[in-house]
Amino acid sequence: MTHNFENIKQRVRQRAGNRCEYCLCHQDYVMGWLQIDHVIPTVKDGSDDEDNLCLACEFCNQYKWTKTDSVDPQSGQWVPLFNPRRQSWAEHFSWSKSGAEIIGLTAIGRATVIALRLNNALAITVRQNWINAGWHPPVVK
Ligand SMILES: [Zn+2]
Repeated sequence: MTHNFENIKQRVRQRAGNRCEYCLCHQDYVMGWLQIDHVIPTVKDGSDDEDNLCLACEFCNQYKWTKTDSVDPQSGQWVPLFNPRRQSWAEHFSWSKSGAEIIGLTAIGRATVIALRLNNALAITVRQNWINAGWHPPVVK
């Protein structure tokens, strides 16, 4: 690898606005460092280019693991997971009325909500507390 990975990490973090690019949690509201995720994992020949990197919280990174596809619960079809480099969050997801849950708007969005467990019980509890504190949900472009 010829690039300086520390610089790349910094640029990925900045580009993401210091938020997980899947569940949009902000670094200021989570204890663990948001991590650099390979959109296409290295075990599936994903590169270290910035074009294949995104920022992800521990939950999203851990649940995504080496997945690149998952089942849309509505159609039962296998579809690719949300790609934060190629796709816009707002096109595939929205916040529930309360803001505590992430709703998948498309097959990709629905499959990603399930695969990355974006609405796991702890995430919902934490988001509820952020809502009470006035920190959530973020405005999405
Ligand atoms: Zn996340």
